[in-house]
Amino acid sequence: MKLEMITHGAPWSARRATMVILVLLAARAPVWAWGERAHEIINAAAVENLPEPLRAFFRARQAFLVEHAIDPDRLAKENAEERPHHYTEVEAYDSYPFNVFRKQFVEERLGPTAAQLQHGDSLWQIERFTLKLSEDLRRRRWDDAERDAVFTAHYAADLTQPLHAVMNYNGQLTNQTGIHSRFESDLVNALGNRWALAARPVVIETDLRARIFQEYLATYQCQNLVFAADRIALAGWNYSDPRYFADFEKLAGLLAKRRIEAGVCFVSSLWYTAWVRAGKPIMPSRSPGSRERLAIPALP
Ligand SMILES: [Zn+2]
Repeated sequence: MKLEMITHGAPWSARRATMVILVLLAARAPVWAWGERAHEIINAAAVENLPEPLRAFFRARQAFLVEHAIDPDRLAKENAEERPHHYTEVEAYDSYPFNVFRKQFVEERLGPTAAQLQHGDSLWQIERFTLKLSEDLRRRRWDDAERDAVFTAHYAADLTQPLHAVMNYNGQLTNQTGIHSRFESDLVNALGNRWALAARPVVIETDLRARIFQEYLATYQCQNLVFAADRIALAGWNYSDPRYFADFEKLAGLLAKRRIEAGVCFVSSLWYTAWVRAGKPIMPSRSPGSRERLAIPALP
């Protein structure tokens, strides 16, 4: 879908995003996040990607979902315990294609070990919050559902950013330091307004863990492209040379767009699956009032 459609649905967020770009020029984003603009784009487009009647419920809350899209990152800045929820580095304890981990995560449905937790637990968080959202919808707790939809979307979107899936998350192991924000913030801020997103339709996930693992593999398989684009674009220049970024845009811009589209499909599929699992309750379409920044929700 075209981005104009998205911004028509949430004009306030578009103005805010412009301000955010200016701020990001002065201060780079932390490395546990897709950039702010990417999360806003994904949440806004995920609403439009939903089938009815769920789309009406989420449309009435689109401004809320966009406004609070990066609240989990704000929490991570203040609370170290929140940070591992934004990434998973399976390569720290298994080798691609991660068959041992797949057995543990998908077939045996085990939680992370203490050692694995050191390398992030976003995969488990995505499942937890999708189930939590489903329970909110089943019990008609609409305010809780809005909040948990934000957390589900945030962790799921982060998973579709390849540098949230690797130990070399900021290029620190390959002399490409700073690649994280160059890919997820600089690129998205430069190109995002021109993208006409074409996300795949939602899928009802009968096996949540299988889908989460599949998304993880897909995102992991893109990591080499990000690093190669950065390396090729840099050849002959340095990172402050505008010719580097012009080449990086050409080489990695389409990949960033494809990853955002994967995020839109993944997020909308999880929201929709939560509603189906809740028994497809009839939902109100009123708009919620403005809220304070979200707090870390208690998990069961
Ligand atoms: Zn994040």
